[in-house]
Amino acid sequence: MPNMSRRPICALPLLLVWQLAWQAPARAEDCPRAGTLGTSRILSVDAEHFPRVGLKSFPQTLPLHDHEVVLTFDDGPWPPTTPKVLKALAQECVRATFFLIGKPASEHPDLVRRIAAEGHTVGHHTWLHRSLMRIAPSETTEEIDHGISAVEMALHGQATTTPSTPFFRFPGFESTPATLDSLQSRGIVVFGADLWAGDWNKMTPQQELKLLIQRLTVARKGIILLHDPKAHTAAMLPAFLRWLRENDYHIVHLVPTADPVSADGH
Ligand SMILES: [Zn+2]
Repeated sequence: MPNMSRRPICALPLLLVWQLAWQAPARAEDCPRAGTLGTSRILSVDAEHFPRVGLKSFPQTLPLHDHEVVLTFDDGPWPPTTPKVLKALAQECVRATFFLIGKPASEHPDLVRRIAAEGHTVGHHTWLHRSLMRIAPSETTEEIDHGISAVEMALHGQATTTPSTPFFRFPGFESTPATLDSLQSRGIVVFGADLWAGDWNKMTPQQELKLLIQRLTVARKGIILLHDPKAHTAAMLPAFLRWLRENDYHIVHLVPTADPVSADGH
C-alpha cells in the first residue's frame, strides 16, 4: 500500500503551512485577500435618502439584499478589546461601522485613528452615553455635539461639531422627537439596528454566537449591533465571521455620501 506509507510525510508540511498561515498577522492593508469573507459592496448613505434606519426603532432600514449584513460596533474605543475586534475584522478583510463615545475617544485618539486607518467608518454615539430621553432638552445638544467634536478632534485634529461622517446612534436607542428633528435638519443619519444578540447582557461567547446565528437565520439580512468593549463579543467575533463566510453571507460597508445633493442628481 504505497499511498498509506506516503500519507504521514505529506500531511506534516500541510499542517505546518496551515499553522503558519493561521499565525501570520492579519493586516487591513493586505485586503482583499483570497479565502476571506471580505467586503462585498459599499453602500453610500445620507440623511436625505435614509434619515433613520433600523427596524428595532424605525419603520425603515437600509436596502440590503438577502444574505447581506452590516456590522456595527458601539461604545468604543476601548483599548482592552477594540484591538481584538479590529484584528478579527482584518483577518477576514471585513469593514464595519464604529459608533464611538466622545470621552473614551478623547482619551484614546490613537485607537480612533487606527479604526479609521483600517478602513472602517466612524460614527458618533454622544459624549458620555447618557440617556438623551432622561436629561434636560437643553443638555441634549451639548451631549451630542461634545461627542462629535471629541471624535473629530481625535480623527482630524479639529474640534468641529460638523461630523465628517454624519452617522449617529442614540445611547440605548433613546431618541426624542426634538433630537430626531434636530439631527435630520443637520443632515445626520440616525442609526438603529435590525438585530442583535443583546451583548450588553452577561453571556458567554458561545451563547452570543448561538443567538446571533439563530436571529440572523430568521432575519436573513440586516444591520447587526455589537459592542466592541464587551470581551465576550471580541472573543466570539472570529467564529461569527467564519460562520458568515461558510454560510454565504455578504458584508456591506457603509460610507457617507460625499455630496448628497449632487449624488441625487440635483
Ligand atoms: Zn451604546
